[in-house]
Amino acid sequence: MANENENNLEFKPRSVGTADYIPQFPDGVAIPACPGEEYKFLKLYSDLVSAMNDFNKIDVRRIENLLIEICHMFRLSKAVTRVFKNPEDEQKGISETLSCFDTGENGEEIHSLRFVTSVMTISTITVYMAPDKKRLTEDEFNKVDLVMRTVVSFISRNRMKELVYELAFFDDYGYPNLRNWNNNLTELVMENKAGGKLAFRYNLRHFELINQEFGRQVGDVIMKSHFSQLQSLVGEDGMVARLGGDNFLGLCPGDKTRAVVDYLTEAVVKTPKGGGVNIHTSAGFFRIPSERPATVGEIMGSIISAFRVAQTGGMDNIIFYDDSFVENKDKTMKIQQHFSEALERDEFRPYYQPKVNVITGKLVGAEALCRWFMPNRIVPPAEFIPVLEQTSEICRLDLHMLECVCKDMRRWADEGRELIRISINFSRKHILNTYLPETIAEIVDRYSIPHELIDIEFTESTSEVEFSDLKRMATKLRDMGFYLSIDDFGIGYSSLNLIKDIPWTTLKIDKNFLPEETEDKNSVSNIMFKHVVSMTRQLGLECIAEGVETIEHVSILNYNGCEIAQGYFFDKPLSVKEFEQRLASGKYEIPQ
Ligand code: C2E
Ligand code: MG
Ligand code: MG
Repeated sequence: MANENENNLEFKPRSVGTADYIPQFPDGVAIPACPGEEYKFLKLYSDLVSAMNDFNKIDVRRIENLLIEICHMFRLSKAVTRVFKNPEDEQKGISETLSCFDTGENGEEIHSLRFVTSVMTISTITVYMAPDKKRLTEDEFNKVDLVMRTVVSFISRNRMKELVYELAFFDDYGYPNLRNWNNNLTELVMENKAGGKLAFRYNLRHFELINQEFGRQVGDVIMKSHFSQLQSLVGEDGMVARLGGDNFLGLCPGDKTRAVVDYLTEAVVKTPKGGGVNIHTSAGFFRIPSERPATVGEIMGSIISAFRVAQTGGMDNIIFYDDSFVENKDKTMKIQQHFSEALERDEFRPYYQPKVNVITGKLVGAEALCRWFMPNRIVPPAEFIPVLEQTSEICRLDLHMLECVCKDMRRWADEGRELIRISINFSRKHILNTYLPETIAEIVDRYSIPHELIDIEFTESTSEVEFSDLKRMATKLRDMGFYLSIDDFGIGYSSLNLIKDIPWTTLKIDKNFLPEETEDKNSVSNIMFKHVVSMTRQLGLECIAEGVETIEHVSILNYNGCEIAQGYFFDKPLSVKEFEQRLASGKYEIPQ
């Protein structure tokens, strides 16, 4: 390695001047005790070499002082070193510059050295002398050259060390990486200083939509800015690191929890062009216990479990790990184990929740919502759908539900009832299945149900990839004549592209988006609701409000022109028998 570096020196190397070479006086050769300049130089030089090789602590001030003395001794006006991170930076003149000596006199360059390390960092050193000073003798020039080689090799060596540190502990974008985070955490755990702190893992939600909207470069700046704000929020006793993509890890002192949770729930980050963008995250937290030791493995495992729940847990995007996780793990295992048998035993069946026209009171449709009829109780979907979504079992369940609905509709038709459109929820997990439209059509056709009486509900898409797959699938389903609803609109990151580019027939406004009954007509949520309804109508889509619970809600719908309601005010999800009674009457009374 020494030789390799020597070859990079533009000036023919003498016996010193490589990155790995530490100039030293050979053993047994005493520094001559001659008085005068020769002795002074040898003393300064040997002090410089030992200061640069002090493995305990490099004393920069001392090195600078020695260099100042040496420069004085050789009548130099200035000595400048530069470090370039790579050849491109050198070409552009971007460097860290250290002026180790400068008398302020104008000087001309008398000697310069350039040094390239094996990792392509470049260091240069140049010395200058004022024109009125006595020129250097050959011996003096050799001594200056020797000092310069020593300095430049010292700087290269140090820069290399920093570079190795940067490569090991930071990623290509300059974010601290997992190794960095692990090291810090391990150190805290070993020193018993981790107790009471919070470890967390988070993911920026729908960040690809921000990239889509602002472009990748601006997206990078926004991500960095979000990171830096959080970094200052957790302070010196905490840390944040990037796992890759839009996934991060963090550590914060207990007293910063509230601020960090608020920030991760919603943060406004300035964009480079002005204006702000809201960033939401899904995050899993674990409070590191103070009363007992916790291992790094346990901390990591806990935040990952909490994070998984945060990602699939619907509305709650910030989850704290607690003992119920162990219980939940058992429940999850049980559901996964019993699902197939339960499906065969026909334990999953639909309840139907009516959709009602708020002006006429007419029953215009219904949503099929799955219930698990266990031998001893009826289980709501919140208990098993997230579990089935972890694997792809949810897809089997959705197709089973479609089949149950078609079976019921066939029977109703055969009994001479008038059919209304029924919607069925389809998990996003289906989106990668290119044959889904054909599979749906095959089931529906088997029961001879007209396609326009079947409505497929999808929730918002999450990623760019999913978006294009969703578009392809939606177009095919529409071409086949099925209805297509966007479910839970208004929660999460509802991109306008999602509405514009996908041929939906219906938009279902989530219950959380419905204004409170007590709110003023000009409140922000009322205005937003009004505009979403009017936009939906202008786009020619049907608009349904979910979670309509009171007569005041019904008036809000009426006032804003949203014609269809689904919610407890009219009916909860009903058993088949109860729903058949509603089908028979086909109408609701709406109090005026
Ligand atoms: P969703 O599709 O948004 O269904 C509406 C949920 O809101 C239903 O909960 C319904 O009972 C509830 N709801 C209706 N009206 C009101 C109201 O006025 N107030 C309140 N507070 N809630 C109301 P449910 O039946 O527990 O279903 C929860 C979610 O589970 C559904 O949300 C849907 O995302 C999912 N789900 C249900 N069945 C299936 C299925 O067969 N397949 C898939 N993939 N998901 C399903
Ligand atoms: Mg739904
Ligand atoms: Mg919904």
